[in-house]
Amino acid sequence: ASVCPQPVATTATAATTPLPVLGSDVTVPLVTGGEVTYAALDYAASAPALQRVWDDVAAYAPYYGSVHRGAGYLSQLSTDLFENSRRTVAEFLDCRDGDQVVFTRSTTDSLNLLAAALPADCQVFVFETEHHASLLPWRDARVTYLNAPRTPGDAVTTLERALADRDPYGPALVCVTGASNVTGELWPVKELAAAAHAHGARIVLDAAQLAPHHPVSVQELDVDWVAFSGHKLYAPFGSGVLAGRSDWLRAADPYLAGGGASRKVARRADGGVEVEWHTTAARHEAGSPNVIGVYAIAAACRALTEAGFDGLVAREQALVARVRAGLAEVPEVKVLSLFGDDAPRVGVISFVVEGWNSSHFAAALSAEYGIGVRDGLFCAHPLVRTLLGSDPQDPGECGAPEAEPGERSLNAIRVSFGAGT
Ligand code: PLP
Repeated sequence: ASVCPQPVATTATAATTPLPVLGSDVTVPLVTGGEVTYAALDYAASAPALQRVWDDVAAYAPYYGSVHRGAGYLSQLSTDLFENSRRTVAEFLDCRDGDQVVFTRSTTDSLNLLAAALPADCQVFVFETEHHASLLPWRDARVTYLNAPRTPGDAVTTLERALADRDPYGPALVCVTGASNVTGELWPVKELAAAAHAHGARIVLDAAQLAPHHPVSVQELDVDWVAFSGHKLYAPFGSGVLAGRSDWLRAADPYLAGGGASRKVARRADGGVEVEWHTTAARHEAGSPNVIGVYAIAAACRALTEAGFDGLVAREQALVARVRAGLAEVPEVKVLSLFGDDAPRVGVISFVVEGWNSSHFAAALSAEYGIGVRDGLFCAHPLVRTLLGSDPQDPGECGAPEAEPGERSLNAIRVSFGAGT
């Protein structure tokens, strides 16, 4: 037990300064000659690892072992850390007693898991503005796609109207993002959850872009499930989370069939195989889990909790204001927004520059200034098309570099930041 790794002790970082992240001293060559410290402004795609997460993972790595199966020290230790990570995530999300925390590969994986666990005849309600990860997994359900609202209040009334028309006796699920990966705008999650529950529906929160910027309380928001990804929460080791109510998850077939999900397996007299599946989160975690990834997510949760979100939010809001003020000074720039200029938002800002092809603009920022941003439709094609004034029903091409100077841009540029900026 004397070699048991402890989370690396740190003093709480002053909340008004960025948290230390990996890669903040990387220099990149410029086409104009010389080099510059790289400015990573693509946090919404993948955020850099917090130094603290990296240190915690490094402290644990020598003791890495297979969980749940071994009697040996490393396996026991890994099992403890794995299961403690579940508790850390549950605390981070302020889950209810009895909620399950299932470890997955990502938000996409979490939402596909939930889609596979829906009760028969479940109706799903989803805004067309969602990221494809929350727009697309509901194929076998009866899905109602809701039109893009233009205010948060409009979102609530649109949902209420759709739910009022639904079969009131069948199960129903609403899926909504907490913060848009395109505009950064916050969605009225608490109000949408109240509307869903008033109509007997449940709600899952896609917190992929919310959790890295804001505390997420399952109880305060009163959502039934939350999904998020480690790599956007400063823990880039291939893990994700689906947390929330256990009943639908316990009743569903395992997401993956295999060892770890099964409690007992025996041959039947008729020649088949009888399986008793776990009813805990393990039911949906068959196979050897990503122990390092799970440990990293828990490390990120601890680091963010220790640093406190108040300072992170304050610093990020100052940055949002600064970037938006700078963009407002350039007449050719149009910032994309669904809910308007005054809408509360996280550090994600998308824009187009009149006369510029967005792909060329993003490439120039990288090559000439060492600034890493993203261009395209950001896996939210209907939303970006609506914001750009093109036809949301036009399948188009993802990220097509089509607009010539003077033409309307068909894709956008996104700058995003977080705890390390
Ligand atoms: N939801 C939102 C709002 C996102 O921004 C993203 C990723 O960009 C996802 C879901 C999917 O996350 P992942 O690619 O980690 O599964």
